[in-house]
Amino acid sequence: MLLSQQERLSCIRLKTMGSNPSRAITGTLVWYYYICHREVWLMSRHLEPSQENPFIEIGRLISEESYKRDRKEIRIDNLVIDILRRDDEQVVIGEVKKSSRFEKSARMQLAFYLSRIKEMGVKARGELLFPKEKKRIEVSLSPELEEELKNAEVKIQKIINSEHPPEPKKNRFCSKCGYNEFCWA
Ligand code: SF4
Repeated sequence: MLLSQQERLSCIRLKTMGSNPSRAITGTLVWYYYICHREVWLMSRHLEPSQENPFIEIGRLISEESYKRDRKEIRIDNLVIDILRRDDEQVVIGEVKKSSRFEKSARMQLAFYLSRIKEMGVKARGELLFPKEKKRIEVSLSPELEEELKNAEVKIQKIINSEHPPEPKKNRFCSKCGYNEFCWA
């Protein structure tokens, strides 16, 4: 039986009310904030997008296979960092992405990691890595970037604290999104 979008949202609400989901901001939520606010809400409820979406699979393969030599995924609190290495006495945090199409999102996600690491007393610089394009972009936490991140975090918190998700809005990520059927079927 096909459920209407309203019925599907009711199911989500029932599910999340019972499980008391954590509302912590993560790097992934920062990434999605610059693409789709609705996806931020859905991800914050731990509703994993469809893993059958081929773009998710390609992204995972690139992330797993690239930079194996440097790879040292670390988890600190709710941070999952792709690459952590020391370069000339400085800590370097690397974030691997499938393409630079959503560079702004990737830059802000990395800024989020740099900011959290800074709060832990470690000064680091960041590198965005796009192995398919053989591209590497340096990111450092400037005061402007910190300010922009702070503003984004306030807005993300507002989205994830909301009882209802934002309405779906067509955007250039929809065709690749694991929630596509959920939003538009
Ligand atoms: S399908 Fe589009 S509107 Fe729906 S969550 Fe994904 S990106 Fe957002």
